[in-house]
Amino acid sequence: MKIIITGAGLGGLTCAIASRLENLDVTVLERTPDILPVGAGIQIPPNGARVLEQLDLLDAVLDKGAVVRSMDLRRYRDGRVLGAMECGDVVWREYGGPWVMIHRADYQRILFDRAIALGAEVRLGATVTDVDVDRTQVILEDGERVSGDVVIGADGLWSCVRDGILERPSPPIETGDMAYRAVFPRAKLDALDDAEVDALLARTGVTAWLGPEKHAVFYPVRGGEEFNLVLLQPDDLPVDVRTDQGDIAELLVGFRDWNGTLKKLISAIPPMLKWKLCHLPELETWSKGCVTLLGDACHPTLPYQAQGAAMAVEDGAVLAMLLASVARGVRKDGDSDRVTVSAIREALLTYEDLRKAPTTANVQGALRNRNAFHLKDGMLQWLRDLILGWSGMTRETDWVGLMSRRQSQTLAYDALAECRKRIDDPGNEH
Ligand SMILES: Cc1cc2nc3c(=O)[nH]c(=O)nc-3n(C[C@H](O)[C@H](O)[C@H](O)COP(=O)(O)OP(=O)(O)OC[C@H]3O[C@@H](n4cnc5c(N)ncnc54)[C@H](O)[C@@H]3O)c2cc1C
Repeated sequence: MKIIITGAGLGGLTCAIASRLENLDVTVLERTPDILPVGAGIQIPPNGARVLEQLDLLDAVLDKGAVVRSMDLRRYRDGRVLGAMECGDVVWREYGGPWVMIHRADYQRILFDRAIALGAEVRLGATVTDVDVDRTQVILEDGERVSGDVVIGADGLWSCVRDGILERPSPPIETGDMAYRAVFPRAKLDALDDAEVDALLARTGVTAWLGPEKHAVFYPVRGGEEFNLVLLQPDDLPVDVRTDQGDIAELLVGFRDWNGTLKKLISAIPPMLKWKLCHLPELETWSKGCVTLLGDACHPTLPYQAQGAAMAVEDGAVLAMLLASVARGVRKDGDSDRVTVSAIREALLTYEDLRKAPTTANVQGALRNRNAFHLKDGMLQWLRDLILGWSGMTRETDWVGLMSRRQSQTLAYDALAECRKRIDDPGNEH
């Protein structure tokens, strides 16, 4: 079976690796001319880490990243810790995988190198402009057509494969929020010579400040040699501008009522970009013929529970497992042409059925987090803060039970086990 994947992002590369581990033929078409060392930090929650472990990638990821020991949620104005949630061993024990933080470029490089080592063909500088669903082909910028038995659109938020499947333009819609994303070298923060900043730098964990309409997230990457800061706030970019240069003076005005330590971090931000945050209404379908979508191409989400890439990774691994099961069936049957097309279509429907419910719940969870994180001063915020003081990530550490109950639906989800169950018992649908 020949699989064409458009996009060498985190989802596309995971799908390539999982497919090669199953001995399927893979070509990845990526529009950028190189896998560039760009980006900021990324968190890999346990459900994503578990997939990486099953694909034998977790050790390499832990080698470059670090396990989040705790997650501190702070009040925006005075920086008071509202909830300090233990994440290290308790999370690993309860959810079967660690919570990891890593530089996005390191993560992508690990996946890229592994995909190549396993024999995937990755063509850089190959921009897909269209998809021919009937022929299971993609069309490149220069007119070249690349055919396969399956085409997987892993081409992100602005996916052109999605337009081909839906047979209409499907631009993402604005969420009303945007993100400033910065990575600091440690020296820049050491130079602030500030005891509170130094205390933050000493933590192997995530710190978030929650406030009206905004929040901020800070954590170390690259063994504490660099630090990631993301500031989320109402979008002020013009309608059709996706990204622009960030402006520190503008940020300091916007965050003027916020905690002094955060403001010191903001004052030291190196040149950075601000990004419009978009998502999609739930799609009527993810697949047509032998063409399908994964990751941000079909379920982009607000990054408010660190799940976007984890979902893309889960999608990629599940798709490969289903397609491998089709390939095994074809090898047994012998009549490849007849079996493949209908069996692939069926596998893609199963994929959609398996993945739509958990990803939709996840996208909605991120929207609920926006409401909870961005509460204005007042009774509801006070109540939230009270609850956070007694909350934890796991049943073992959560005295109220709300947080761990919600988290466990996502963090304990074992995408590959669910897929295996479905392959073994195809009648077991939602
Ligand atoms: C501020 C912020 C913080 C985030 N933090 C986290 C986090 O902590 N944890 C987490 O799990 N997620 C996080 N996310 C979400 C995460 O980044 C995305 O969900 C994830 O990268 C999606 O992966 P993907 O492979 O689907 O798409 P992408 O990573 O977008 O990859 C798509 C790839 O396709 C290529 N491509 C696009 N168009 C074409 C074309 N026409 N032809 C060929 N190639 C093409 C692109 O160059 C790219 O390489 C965050 C997002 C933001 C904005």
